[in-house]
Amino acid sequence: MKKILLIATGGTIASQKTEGGLAPGLSPGELLRRVPDARAFCQIDTVQPMNLDSTNITPGHWLALAALIEENYGKYDGFVICHGTDTLAYSGAALSYLIQGTRKPIVLTGAQKPIDREDTDARQNLLDSLRYASSGDSGVCIVFGGHVIAGTRARKTRTKSYNAFSSINFPDLAEIRDHRVVRFLPCAESGSPRFTHTLNTRVMLLKLIPGLPTEAFASATACCDGLIIESYGVGGIPDAYLSQLEALAHAGKTIVLATQVPQEGSDLSVYQVGHRVKERYRLLEPYDMTLESTVTKLMWVLGQADDPQEIRRLFYTPVNHDLLF
Ligand code: ASP
Repeated sequence: MKKILLIATGGTIASQKTEGGLAPGLSPGELLRRVPDARAFCQIDTVQPMNLDSTNITPGHWLALAALIEENYGKYDGFVICHGTDTLAYSGAALSYLIQGTRKPIVLTGAQKPIDREDTDARQNLLDSLRYASSGDSGVCIVFGGHVIAGTRARKTRTKSYNAFSSINFPDLAEIRDHRVVRFLPCAESGSPRFTHTLNTRVMLLKLIPGLPTEAFASATACCDGLIIESYGVGGIPDAYLSQLEALAHAGKTIVLATQVPQEGSDLSVYQVGHRVKERYRLLEPYDMTLESTVTKLMWVLGQADDPQEIRRLFYTPVNHDLLF
């Protein structure tokens, strides 16, 4: 029987009613008691390193989760992390960079309704996750609403419905249908896992809106090493911000020019507004990567390297299906 470590971190799945609204309350043991069928196919130990609404999750928590998995990697066949849905896609992407080359499944899941509600999706999601984590090789992934999504490809696209997560610019890895895992893609990982322990959190996201005051770039210059500018369409920089961009580039900031459009990604070579800045300022672009992956990959890359050439090489090296271009 497969041995699984259930890591509970809070979220709606473990939440209970309080006077001030839902808040995480249940222990991992209490979660497990709601899915007794899991005992038929796996043996589960539990741990609760934090108990938070995922609004409060930070990069420090990603490092703590990766360290916990590293410590226990030899003892278990798979890991299931119960997590709030709001920042789950960021955590899935961050863990994909911090734990590379894992063939043991590291599954993140959660729910839109607390596990004790009659109409909850939590019991199904937890059972599906334990089943998937017990079913053989995989990497870091998200199991939610019957879909198995690569950890770098998930995005919360619905705030209320049970099919809350979509796989962006990439197919689902698998589905769970009637208690069976139906795989569409084989696990691409081989060899042994590589854990890294550093992130540079001096990363900012600046979303362009028409007429954004130029001063918005000042805080980026002051407090980040890496700036992601979320521009429009396939990507470009309005004339009004060219001197700000030049200042950022001269200050040695790593600049990624991304798009606000969720599907199909960037291509700065298409329009003059993109083409003129890409080479001149040695901008990076995410192509088909999700925003969640772009943010966490930049934190990871800047945690590993200072040299612009090495930053570029790491940023464009595909990890856990994050980049196809
Ligand atoms: N606010 C909750 C959280 O992210 C939402 C959820 O879990 O669905 O922790």
